[in-house]
Amino acid sequence: MTTRSCPCGLPEPYDRCCGRYLSGAAAAPSAEALMRSRYTAFVGRDAGYLLRTWHPRTRPARLDLDPDVRWTGLEVLGATGGSAFHTTGTVTFRAAFRGGSLHERSRFERVDGAWVYVDGDFLED
Ligand SMILES: [Zn+2]
Repeated sequence: MTTRSCPCGLPEPYDRCCGRYLSGAAAAPSAEALMRSRYTAFVGRDAGYLLRTWHPRTRPARLDLDPDVRWTGLEVLGATGGSAFHTTGTVTFRAAFRGGSLHERSRFERVDGAWVYVDGDFLED
């Protein structure tokens, strides 16, 4: 049991935030929660979780995570759809890493009830 705060930026301990999703104990209830958990998986280089939460249509055969990238923070800037009442959603975010940041609008869909990542567009700063 760890009490460290979650890497995704929410003021919750990891175990009560994204940790539940990465361990498979619970499913992310919204597109934003899934997006945050995928960021947390990038921080921990959990390629298995990233592939599991990738739409089968767009999922790569394998994922090589760069061990030199140090993620330093996530800021969710906006979201559309993505709730229990939707089957699609988008989340716009900025993910910072040492030396730069990634500004993206990601698309999510529900497959068999579970939110999965489809693809994303890079945005101008
Ligand atoms: Zn979290």
